[in-house]
Amino acid sequence: MSKMNDVRERLLTERDLLIEKLKGNDLSVDDSETPDPVDLAVRNYSKNVMLAVSENESRQLALVDEALLRVKDDEYGTCQNCEKAINPKRLAAIPWARYCLNCQELVEQGLLDEE
Ligand SMILES: [Zn+2]
Repeated sequence: MSKMNDVRERLLTERDLLIEKLKGNDLSVDDSETPDPVDLAVRNYSKNVMLAVSENESRQLALVDEALLRVKDDEYGTCQNCEKAINPKRLAAIPWARYCLNCQELVEQGLLDEE
Protein backbone atom coordinates (compact mmCIF):
# COMPACT_ATOMS: atom_id res chain seq x y z
CA MET A 1 0.00 0.00 0.00
CA SER A 2 1.72 3.18 -1.20
CA LYS A 3 -0.03 5.41 1.33
CA MET A 4 1.55 3.43 4.14
CA ASN A 5 4.92 3.85 2.47
CA ASP A 6 4.43 7.61 2.51
CA VAL A 7 3.60 7.51 6.21
CA ARG A 8 6.61 5.34 6.86
CA GLU A 9 8.87 7.73 4.93
CA ARG A 10 7.53 10.68 6.88
CA LEU A 11 8.06 8.94 10.19
CA LEU A 12 11.59 7.90 9.25
CA THR A 13 12.45 11.46 8.21
CA GLU A 14 11.07 12.79 11.48
CA ARG A 15 13.05 10.15 13.34
CA ASP A 16 16.33 11.17 11.69
CA LEU A 17 15.59 14.80 12.45
CA LEU A 18 14.95 14.10 16.13
CA ILE A 19 18.09 12.01 16.43
CA GLU A 20 20.11 14.82 14.86
CA LYS A 21 18.63 17.33 17.31
CA LEU A 22 19.33 15.09 20.27
CA LYS A 23 22.93 14.66 19.15
CA GLY A 24 23.28 18.43 18.74
CA ASN A 25 22.08 18.99 22.29
CA ASP A 26 24.70 16.65 23.68
CA LEU A 27 27.47 18.52 21.93
CA SER A 28 26.39 21.96 23.08
CA VAL A 29 26.54 21.10 26.79
CA ASP A 30 30.02 22.18 27.77
CA ASP A 31 31.19 22.32 31.38
CA SER A 32 34.89 22.70 30.73
CA GLU A 33 35.18 26.50 30.99
CA THR A 34 35.99 28.35 34.23
CA PRO A 35 32.71 29.24 35.88
CA ASP A 36 31.78 32.73 36.98
CA PRO A 37 28.68 32.73 39.27
CA VAL A 38 26.42 34.75 36.98
CA ASP A 39 27.60 32.94 33.93
CA LEU A 40 27.10 29.67 35.72
CA ALA A 41 23.53 30.53 36.63
CA VAL A 42 22.80 31.45 33.04
CA ARG A 43 24.46 28.33 31.83
CA ASN A 44 22.58 26.13 34.26
CA TYR A 45 19.41 27.76 33.15
CA SER A 46 20.06 27.14 29.48
CA LYS A 47 21.21 23.64 30.31
CA ASN A 48 17.89 22.98 32.01
CA VAL A 49 16.04 24.38 29.04
CA MET A 50 18.10 22.17 26.78
CA LEU A 51 17.41 19.15 28.93
CA ALA A 52 13.71 19.91 28.80
CA VAL A 53 13.93 20.21 25.03
CA SER A 54 15.79 16.96 24.68
CA GLU A 55 13.29 15.30 27.00
CA ASN A 56 10.51 16.40 24.68
CA GLU A 57 12.46 15.14 21.73
CA SER A 58 13.22 11.81 23.36
CA ARG A 59 9.55 11.38 24.12
CA GLN A 60 8.60 12.25 20.58
CA LEU A 61 11.23 9.88 19.27
CA ALA A 62 9.59 7.10 21.29
CA LEU A 63 6.22 8.03 19.79
CA VAL A 64 7.67 7.98 16.27
CA ASP A 65 9.24 4.58 16.92
CA GLU A 66 5.93 3.25 18.20
CA ALA A 67 4.14 4.58 15.14
CA LEU A 68 6.67 2.83 12.91
CA LEU A 69 5.97 -0.42 14.74
CA ARG A 70 2.27 0.06 14.16
CA VAL A 71 2.93 0.60 10.44
CA LYS A 72 4.85 -2.67 10.43
CA ASP A 73 2.12 -4.53 12.33
CA ASP A 74 -0.61 -3.10 10.13
CA GLU A 75 -2.18 -1.32 13.08
CA TYR A 76 -1.31 2.19 12.04
CA GLY A 77 -4.07 4.77 12.46
CA THR A 78 -5.84 2.91 15.25
CA CYS A 79 -6.39 4.63 18.57
CA GLN A 80 -4.34 2.92 21.27
CA ASN A 81 -7.13 3.36 23.78
CA CYS A 82 -10.54 2.85 22.17
CA GLU A 83 -9.22 1.07 19.04
CA LYS A 84 -11.26 3.24 16.71
CA ALA A 85 -9.71 4.68 13.57
CA ILE A 86 -7.94 7.99 14.14
CA ASN A 87 -9.18 10.84 11.94
CA PRO A 88 -7.00 10.96 8.77
CA LYS A 89 -6.66 14.75 9.09
CA ARG A 90 -5.28 14.32 12.56
CA LEU A 91 -2.82 11.72 11.29
CA ALA A 92 -1.75 14.00 8.47
CA ALA A 93 -0.95 16.70 11.02
CA ILE A 94 0.56 14.37 13.64
CA PRO A 95 1.67 11.12 11.96
CA TRP A 96 2.80 9.67 15.31
CA ALA A 97 -0.52 10.28 17.11
CA ARG A 98 -1.36 7.42 19.49
CA TYR A 99 -4.92 8.41 20.25
CA CYS A 100 -8.02 9.68 18.54
CA LEU A 101 -9.09 13.21 19.44
CA ASN A 102 -11.50 12.05 22.15
CA CYS A 103 -8.92 9.93 23.91
CA GLN A 104 -6.23 12.60 23.49
CA GLU A 105 -8.51 14.99 25.36
CA LEU A 106 -8.86 12.46 28.15
CA VAL A 107 -5.07 12.14 28.30
CA GLU A 108 -4.66 15.89 28.51
CA GLN A 109 -7.20 16.09 31.31
CA GLY A 110 -5.36 13.32 33.13
CA LEU A 111 -8.38 11.03 32.86
CA LEU A 112 -6.61 8.34 30.91
CA ASP A 113 -3.58 6.44 32.13
CA GLU A 114 -0.90 6.33 29.48
CA GLU A 115 0.99 3.08 29.33
ZN1 LIG B 1 -9.69 6.72 21.11
